[in-house]
Amino acid sequence: MKIYFGGVRGTSAVAQADFLKFGGETTAVLVEGRAGERVVLDAGTGLRALGSRLIAGTARPEALLLMTHYHLDHLMGLPAFDLLYNKAWTVEIAAPRREALEPAEVVRRILSKPFWPMQLDKLHAKLKFTTLPATDAVRHYRSLELRWCAVHHPEGCHAYRVDEPASGASLVFATDMEWRASTEAERRDFLNLCLLPKPARLLVMDGQFSRATYTRFKGWGHSTWEDCLEVAQKAGVREVLITHHAPQNNDAQLTEIEKAARRAWSGAALARSGMELDLHG
Ligand SMILES: [Zn+2]
Ligand SMILES: [Zn+2]
Repeated sequence: MKIYFGGVRGTSAVAQADFLKFGGETTAVLVEGRAGERVVLDAGTGLRALGSRLIAGTARPEALLLMTHYHLDHLMGLPAFDLLYNKAWTVEIAAPRREALEPAEVVRRILSKPFWPMQLDKLHAKLKFTTLPATDAVRHYRSLELRWCAVHHPEGCHAYRVDEPASGASLVFATDMEWRASTEAERRDFLNLCLLPKPARLLVMDGQFSRATYTRFKGWGHSTWEDCLEVAQKAGVREVLITHHAPQNNDAQLTEIEKAARRAWSGAALARSGMELDLHG
């Protein structure tokens, strides 16, 4: 199972030269299964880079887009997603219902006048919308297994787990989660997502803040990089990639955070735009 990071920035995209080592595009990640499955996690501005990669690299023009939630930094890339304007492609957009909205209604709104010139009925791709059950579910997507649970965040958010039983690879993707404000039940559900059916190989987790800055941003819906290490070790994962980097943190600041995280636990690193991983069991 291959994982490609199109965007790792939180809150808003940044484009200054001293932000480009870690990358300025907001959240979008592509998971490529061995059997040709293409699962995209979130539709931030990093989605544009994923669109080019998808069109260039696959014989089967189908992709599944799983949305964690609809804050704009996770949705801004959708209107300009290449695949939506390509009639050869079938794109399924799936998420649990959020704020009483089905995924189809969210996409209709984001593409509606006066926000975007091409409305839903003018797109060329075959679009399919799926409302996932809120929790306690597993979905098979060809040879991949998908699981998810709700996590603590304003307006809610879901974390997803992708397993590839054929290779033993497993990923938990948990952007936008405030670990320190989570209830016991939310913590238990999330740790279970990481632990079952076996401890995940890789956790990608929101670590926008640090313990030193968190008190100013309590209730904003994000974790600290130190929380990422704590969760990773509790969940028994082998590696954690910290993501959703604050738009104020330039490359020098993120490099210092990464050094501190690696000193605390050698299995930690910061996610970067353009990073590609070949994940095994
Ligand atoms: Zn976000
Ligand atoms: Zn959010």
